[in-house]
Amino acid sequence: MAQQKINRVTFATLPTPLEDGGKLASGSRLWVKRDDLTGLGAGGNKARKLEFLCGDAIQNGAKSLVTVGAAQSNHCRMTAAAGARLGLPTHLVLSGKKPNRLEGNQLLSQIFGATLHHTGLADTDWAGLEEFRAQLTQQLVDRGERPHSIPIGGSTAIGAIGYALAFDEIIEQCSAQNFNADAIVFTTSSGGTHAGLVAGLVRARTRDPLKQLPKIIGIGVAKGTALSSLSITDLANETLNLLNETSRATTDDVSIDSNYMGSDYAVATQAATDAAKWAAHRGAWVLDAVYSAKGFSGLLGLDAKNEFGSDANVVFIHTGGLPSIFANH
Ligand SMILES: *Cc1c(COP(=O)(O)O)cnc(C)c1O
Repeated sequence: MAQQKINRVTFATLPTPLEDGGKLASGSRLWVKRDDLTGLGAGGNKARKLEFLCGDAIQNGAKSLVTVGAAQSNHCRMTAAAGARLGLPTHLVLSGKKPNRLEGNQLLSQIFGATLHHTGLADTDWAGLEEFRAQLTQQLVDRGERPHSIPIGGSTAIGAIGYALAFDEIIEQCSAQNFNADAIVFTTSSGGTHAGLVAGLVRARTRDPLKQLPKIIGIGVAKGTALSSLSITDLANETLNLLNETSRATTDDVSIDSNYMGSDYAVATQAATDAAKWAAHRGAWVLDAVYSAKGFSGLLGLDAKNEFGSDANVVFIHTGGLPSIFANH
């Protein structure tokens, strides 16, 4: 098979810090991987995906960007930032009605110069939102604007390459601090972060079958997106293919724990409120209610059940979400 060329633009400030988070209740040690500090338009995990998604867009001669998300989508805000950096007009398809005053991620998206399309659809109507994106993309094609249209969360195999590389970055940082990570825990929603990490794990395992590698544990916070272990496995395998790896992930490599979602996406839970407070007081880490706080409540919950053991090193990837703290809707 011919070597596939992987196109990348530089958006993120890498490596992001890996901070010692001190002891958890079980006695295990917490490490916080600061992907909230990637630096693209106020930061977050989507910067790593957008480096490859936009590399692909430029390669294809795109003249505009289109993407989609919930009203307070971090992915949409960071795509708006990417569009600004590349000088490409950017269209965002958002759930909900146009608010009287833009807040949080929407305010930033407007500041970055994006066009916001308020669909009036419900936050969790992922299918309706994707349908709207398809229609808008077609209109832009018809007008000759050569859109590069990115699915929800940027969770394609190309986007996931960013997290296959992040896996290596984490392993290197752990080695540099003289420990092996036993688990990597993070919030999963559209699945690209998860699939990329699994691809990175499988590639590392193939390179060195004797190396002790961490378990990858995604804390699920949305229903009805890519969230099944089968689809994450498929996406991880597509990513391995793009990386010219012949090794493959199995469903055993994919662990999704949705016990910390509460009743639905973006619905508050007491555990997430408590976890956000714990993180703010422990390390001045700011977690958002929709994503990172629920993910971290999963880490604390699993630790309380002694799932990691009492002497483990547990890495939490802080995936960002800061701007939604400043939004009421
Ligand atoms: C998008 C997002 C996630 C989830 O990442 P996926 O790759 O979509 O699963 C987690 N945390 C934050 C803050 C996000 O914006």
